[in-house]
Amino acid sequence: RRVVFSGIQPTGVPHVGNHLGALAQWQRIVKEAAAQPADSRDSLFFSVVGLHALTVPQDPIRLAIERRDMFAVLLALGLADPAAGAVVFHQDQVPEHAELAWYLNTVTPVNRLMRMTTWKSKLATIRNANSEDEIDDSMLQLGLLAYPVLQAADVLLYKTSHVPVGHDQSQHLELARDLAQIFNRAYPGRRKDGKGKGKGVFRVPEVMLTTHPRIQSLRDPGQKMSKSAPHPSSKIFLTDSASEIHAKIKSAVTDSTAGVTWDPANRPGIATLLQIYAGYSDRAGGVEEIAARYSDAMGIMRLKTDLAEIVSESLKGFRDEFARIRTEEGYLAAEERRGAERAREAAQATMREVRAAVGTT
Ligand code: ATP
Ligand code: MG
Repeated sequence: RRVVFSGIQPTGVPHVGNHLGALAQWQRIVKEAAAQPADSRDSLFFSVVGLHALTVPQDPIRLAIERRDMFAVLLALGLADPAAGAVVFHQDQVPEHAELAWYLNTVTPVNRLMRMTTWKSKLATIRNANSEDEIDDSMLQLGLLAYPVLQAADVLLYKTSHVPVGHDQSQHLELARDLAQIFNRAYPGRRKDGKGKGKGVFRVPEVMLTTHPRIQSLRDPGQKMSKSAPHPSSKIFLTDSASEIHAKIKSAVTDSTAGVTWDPANRPGIATLLQIYAGYSDRAGGVEEIAARYSDAMGIMRLKTDLAEIVSESLKGFRDEFARIRTEEGYLAAEERRGAERAREAAQATMREVRAAVGTT
């Protein structure tokens, strides 16, 4: 039986890039699991990973709102479906995540963390911000260096077999796989019958890379669409109203060539619109076929109008459900409690094994 785990940071309302690149795949996995017979059903864990959000400065009041809103988003997407064995929970309400991260820290080579592209790009940003080529050490916190270890703990804690994520996460998941093996070798534990060494606590998780391409910013096609990016006009939030969606797509940066063509290298703005279009339209045929339908002189304008309609229609059910959940205080709180309890049960079982293998009990 598969155990699926994936997480999302409460660093802002998710956008269509998060949806097409990750959340839509989670929804598909939930639908598939709901159709499985109960006795062989997968276990699915979807987590709002609040501890990861702390690797950048956070305003406490804002964080509290964003982690609740993210939870409501995941509920509204239908991810907490008991009929699918799917659990949605807050990572920061299950203390075993931080506990396992510590155990994994003790077997993690620091140079592996310093090679992470996320860390290196942070270093580069800080270097650029300072005119002289010197790094201000106080801007580099241990949490930022170590957060891939926490991410490995998130995944390994549930003896996860499959992790659906976007391409930007593959380096982190490679670390998670390696840490599982390093830890299993270092602490094999005892066999169940007591005769000889065990095989270690962790399952080595497989990465399910999303097939959907990375969606770029609507304002700056050279940047990826990002929750934490400052400009609301650079992204379409899943919670945007129909008129906001229309306005943002209308003002999306394209180029001065008339007509639509699929040319991601030279026309990245148009390419982004086509990718979103392909992601939200069920019609067969990919980006090239869609481009061909808008090749006339007025094509870009028509593409934008149709795309806004498609996105807004696709998200309508979600929007209504989100609005409903947000106003039902009691429901949200009850779901948060239920999710944390179910996740914690599984997490505690794994930690009992970890402590026994290591000798800390
Ligand atoms: P942040 O700016 O806070 O890092 P983010 O938009 O990058 O936010 P994450 O919480 O880091 O979102 O990632 C959640 C999931 O969304 C991951 O699986 C990631 O691969 C995917 N994802 C993020 N941005 C995009 C994008 N522009 N296109 C496709 N998938 C994306
Ligand atoms: Mg990100």
